[in-house]
Amino acid sequence: MHTFGVEVKCSQLFLIEDISEIENCFNVKEPRLILGGGSNILFVRDFEGTVIRLDFKGIEKIEDNGTSVLLKVAAGVDWEELTNLALRYEYYGIENLAGIPGRVGSSPIQNIGAYGVEVKDVIEKVEGFYIDSGKPFTFACADCAFDYRSSIFKTELHEKCLITYVYFRLSRIPKFTLSYQGLKEELAHRELPTTLKNVTDIILKLRNSKLPNIREIGSAGSFFKNPIIEKKQLEVLQAKFPTLIHYPWHENKVKLAAAQLIDLCGWKGYRSGDAGVYPQQALVIVNYGNASGKEIQELYQEIQYSVKERFEIEIEPEVIIIKSK
Ligand SMILES: Cc1cc2nc3c(=O)[nH]c(=O)nc-3n(C[C@H](O)[C@H](O)[C@H](O)COP(=O)(O)OP(=O)(O)OC[C@H]3O[C@@H](n4cnc5c(N)ncnc54)[C@H](O)[C@@H]3O)c2cc1C
Repeated sequence: MHTFGVEVKCSQLFLIEDISEIENCFNVKEPRLILGGGSNILFVRDFEGTVIRLDFKGIEKIEDNGTSVLLKVAAGVDWEELTNLALRYEYYGIENLAGIPGRVGSSPIQNIGAYGVEVKDVIEKVEGFYIDSGKPFTFACADCAFDYRSSIFKTELHEKCLITYVYFRLSRIPKFTLSYQGLKEELAHRELPTTLKNVTDIILKLRNSKLPNIREIGSAGSFFKNPIIEKKQLEVLQAKFPTLIHYPWHENKVKLAAAQLIDLCGWKGYRSGDAGVYPQQALVIVNYGNASGKEIQELYQEIQYSVKERFEIEIEPEVIIIKSK
């Protein structure tokens, strides 16, 4: 039920296959964990508590005004099913997010993003229930506190709410985000017209060249977030490391590429037993077979330590780490 491929157990598992069963979750005591496709989680140990998985499916077109559609999508729908549907019906807006594993219910949690697009750009609202009170909620996009790989659901409401439906506003009119250099270059290089099918195909090709296939190698994708630092600190670092990649951020800050920092510390392609750093992408920690959660933890902590020592920068996991009590 998760993609890191480490052997773990939980004490109790609730599979909710129909929305009418949702109230069974309201009195579940802590420790509890809501699980989607398990593609952004590392279990360091067995989970001594209840795992809840919302398995109900369904995609409903709520509105079609000729220029856009509003889709109501159930938490248990695979993200891939939604991007495939968008491709089939020519709905624009999530093509750059094609190929991200996981479920629709988890997509707002860390505001999934790739190749210049974040899911917040197409979310109209999020519906669910507070677990302890059983009260329903509806958050408009503006109230979800979406940020870089974050939202209110990953911070204030972490493990406090169940997301049941996400509403997406997708365009019926061709509208592309081609800010990612590799994407533009590939379209030009292959002399392809900018169509939904071509953009999706290139995104999938780019992803496959850099990321492991989760059916073959255990991972949770990018393990760390890209660090955001003050411009002043960048200037100091550049004197020593002039090749540092950086992108503008708000308020005198810049975003660095965690992959480059990890690579400069010599971790790319490193392997200890079955835990390793993916040779094609230094940001991805992998389980080649029988690594334990603890071994993966030891590796990611060593990486954090060496980046801190070399650059004075703390890199934070993007992945949710489950260290049960
Ligand atoms: C190979 C690979 C590539 C990846 N590439 C990207 C990428 O390009 N961009 C990106 O942003 N991410 C990427 N990821 C990370 C991951 O796919 C996403 O974060 C995805 O949204 C996780 O979905 P999931 O259903 O697997 O969530 P899970 O890992 O099961 O859960 C993630 C979090 O969401 C919570 N949660 C899940 N469902 C619900 C719900 N219904 N209600 C409340 N809380 C819930 C969980 O408690 C947990 O805190 C990648 C992962 C892999 C393995």
